[in-house]
Amino acid sequence: MDILHTQLAALQQRLSFVATDPIDWKFYVQVSSWAVTLFESYLLLRQYPLYSRIAPPKVLENHFDTAVFRKSQNYGRDKARFSLVTGLMKQIIDSTLISIGFYACAWDFGGKIIGYFGCGPEYEITQSLAFTAVIFMMTSISAIPISLYETFVLEERHGFNKTTPALFVTDLLKTWALGFAIGGPFVSAFLYVFKWAGDRFVPWLMAFLLAFQMTMVILYPTVIQPLFNKLSPLPTGELRSRTEALAGKLKFPLKHLYEIDGSKRSSHSNAYFFGLPWSKYIVIFDTLIKESKPAEVEAVLAHELGHWYHMHPTKLLCISQLHIFSILALFPAFLHAPQFLRAFDFSASVASRPPTIVAFLLFQMILTPLEAVVSMGFNFISRRFEWEADRFACELQDRLEEPSMADMGDRLGRALITLHVKNLSTVWVDWLYSAYHHSHPTLTERLKALEAFRAKRDGEDKKRL
Ligand SMILES: [Zn+2]
Repeated sequence: MDILHTQLAALQQRLSFVATDPIDWKFYVQVSSWAVTLFESYLLLRQYPLYSRIAPPKVLENHFDTAVFRKSQNYGRDKARFSLVTGLMKQIIDSTLISIGFYACAWDFGGKIIGYFGCGPEYEITQSLAFTAVIFMMTSISAIPISLYETFVLEERHGFNKTTPALFVTDLLKTWALGFAIGGPFVSAFLYVFKWAGDRFVPWLMAFLLAFQMTMVILYPTVIQPLFNKLSPLPTGELRSRTEALAGKLKFPLKHLYEIDGSKRSSHSNAYFFGLPWSKYIVIFDTLIKESKPAEVEAVLAHELGHWYHMHPTKLLCISQLHIFSILALFPAFLHAPQFLRAFDFSASVASRPPTIVAFLLFQMILTPLEAVVSMGFNFISRRFEWEADRFACELQDRLEEPSMADMGDRLGRALITLHVKNLSTVWVDWLYSAYHHSHPTLTERLKALEAFRAKRDGEDKKRL
């Protein structure tokens, strides 16, 4: 542990310029956040003309009829326009808030709120909670019009919306209640660990964050998700027996097999798994069950179990720990730098003893361009995992010596096409846009890979004969 702390101290030494050099951090945040937004807009403009193509890619020719293809192009075009406008709007709001010194005002306002209850600035954690609540409410309320438009105009126009106004409101209230119920204790504990561990906070905070993530893995399916959706045990029948048989053969610790009423809000469909290593949930959307045959849903699940078999969630968790570690390792330089806060209009008295939550929030803004690159890296890894999971489904016939699974690749391909057609997902994708935004390979790429895998296998079979 001491080596870790010596290394971290050396890093702080290198970053000591943050506390000493007069840097216009506010200007830096403005320029860098605009640069990211404009780059994202540029990507949308690269993607936009592809929505005018009149025919799907060759591999999909036989699966899209003209009317459906046109619908999917229109849907994509509308969504792209929506993203372009909302992205720029959000940036204008953020940029204005920074330039008028909003965060400094919010901190002072938080101080006034706790002042009513007789608490002074020495109650840093209490004031931090009030400050977070102010920002949370402000961002949540300003996001409502966009969310209303997206649900009741954009999704509605393309026939996906199933959310009623009443459901929209109850969802919103539940999300806020959850935000306070989980966010409050989380922020308090997070700040408490900082205070308690002092300069040696990095390993402790990482342990805390990991424990929090694990708690959420347990709480999410048992407490949170049932607030929004109904999970009912998948009825006995072909799909259930296929799923249980597949899980059994792969020794997947399937404890709960549910169908989720995803159709309550939207007609988009999917399937996923999660849970602790010894007790897993598989959840299948009712829409997927309705639209695909059991054999095809089985292939989607085979892909999902490929993620489990190759330990993709664990690998992603490890990589994200590394990511969190690097962020926390850089942070102290910004925590102990009064002029960093001064650059964002905080008063000299607040800046002289920087509140942790404020310094952390501003530090996140500094990281914006770096985080954009990191998320591209995450997407790159995630796409590799998707290929691997697809290949796993195709190889099941050999792995389990199960000739009936020889057509797993075809079934997966058919299910992916159905999902894509029903969701009106975009089929023509610009490579740079995809590299930046997509955690999954495009449908065309996946179908080509499935095809290549089958051709290779057929070749091997022939050789054997
Ligand atoms: Zn996947």
